[in-house]
Amino acid sequence: MRYDLIVKNALIPHGDETVLTNILVKDEKIAGFVDKIEGIEADNVIDAEGHLTLPGCIDSHTHYMDPGFTHRENFLTGTSGAAVGGVTTIIDMPCCSVPSVRGVAELHNKVNAIKDKAIVDYAMWGGVTGEDVRNKNLKIVKEQADEGVVAFKVYMTPSVPSYPRVTDPEMLEIFYEVSKTGLPVGVHAENFAICDYMVQKLREEGRMDGPAWAEARMELAEKVAIQLCISYAEETGARFHVVHMSTGIGAKLVKEAKMRGIDVTSETCPHYLTLNYQEHMTKFKQFVKIAPPIRTKKDNEELWQGLIDGSVDFIATDHAPYEIPTEKDAPGMTIWTAFPGIPGTETMVPIIVSEGYNKGRLSLSKLVEILSTNAAKHYGIYPKKGAMMIGSDADFTIIDLNKEWTIEKEKMQCLNKYTPFDGMKLKGKVAKTIVRGTLVYDDEKGIVGKPGYGQWIKRQNIQKLERKIKF
Ligand SMILES: [Zn+2]
Repeated sequence: MRYDLIVKNALIPHGDETVLTNILVKDEKIAGFVDKIEGIEADNVIDAEGHLTLPGCIDSHTHYMDPGFTHRENFLTGTSGAAVGGVTTIIDMPCCSVPSVRGVAELHNKVNAIKDKAIVDYAMWGGVTGEDVRNKNLKIVKEQADEGVVAFKVYMTPSVPSYPRVTDPEMLEIFYEVSKTGLPVGVHAENFAICDYMVQKLREEGRMDGPAWAEARMELAEKVAIQLCISYAEETGARFHVVHMSTGIGAKLVKEAKMRGIDVTSETCPHYLTLNYQEHMTKFKQFVKIAPPIRTKKDNEELWQGLIDGSVDFIATDHAPYEIPTEKDAPGMTIWTAFPGIPGTETMVPIIVSEGYNKGRLSLSKLVEILSTNAAKHYGIYPKKGAMMIGSDADFTIIDLNKEWTIEKEKMQCLNKYTPFDGMKLKGKVAKTIVRGTLVYDDEKGIVGKPGYGQWIKRQNIQKLERKIKF
């Protein structure tokens, strides 16, 4: 048999050990692993040069703003950053497009708008809001689930006008409805009343400094929101997923709930693991303004511990950039009026490799789980994605673990070039990114993937992460 591709000299993970092998690819899928390639015919050979080769990494929380807000980001620039950052599949949120995705028609409208732009593969979140509860229109949940969305997103605090927040009883109705589909409900978990009150209070006190944002969107707002959702999950049987969890207390609550057998999972983001509000909100101000805000060094460490002990299930980015001259840094704009959001897909894998694996916080098996496998399982696209197995898509993230480099905002792919990681020194850089057997990024040549190559990956089936809590 003639193969399409051999990825030679690939150092692949096997538990916490590695194996040097050659990966055979046929029809976009992994076809085998061999010690020697002499005598094997292939159209193409890519040399991994002995670098660590992971199953393609997944950013399961992006807002690429397309169609509609394409002055902020679009699917070409968004997935270009993914390719450079070693991310082979992204899962895009339903809220930040026009129209927002709250039904099958809007879902198809979005896929049509982006399909000629994507460089890497993408799956889709489904949408449901408080307005849909009030309009007695919850049939959209099953309809979107049947179309292959991987989960549903709910906001407890306001985000975009076309995607209204839920009140507590509306969220309860949504938990019941989504539980029937078996899919997770991802909740932006911050208590609206506390955030709203505290923001007003600090504004009236005249606070204009960066850290004021983090003090207003206080830890307690996330804590009580997660507590409420855990109660709802217990009551309804819905799979509650904490998106972008920012606090150590959140990880503790998730751990306790998991131990009680409640169906709760969580993700955190590189910024909640590496940045703190006292230092970085002073330095970057609105350019690190996000919701929930970055917290303290103590929270950083507790979230790393959460990843290690299993209370935090995987990493995502909440990639959501805004236009700098009009939405982040317009004349007269303050920490209160600038839009909350930062890019993240491009820097996720290198930061977790550098600060997690290379610094000895994370084992190799944990690195693979939190960057790839766990999100794939949680969202029902495993083992097509997230696996290094025969028959899996030939998606690979090849990493030069020893390469030292510095993140520079000017060099990023995102349309609006800012990042709170600007100037961060890292050890470990993506050398090559391969999606379904096609090279889309090479550190020496840059982006070589073609817009429109990326495919919509529908949910394959319902899968759940096993609860693995370490004491
Ligand atoms: Zn988000």
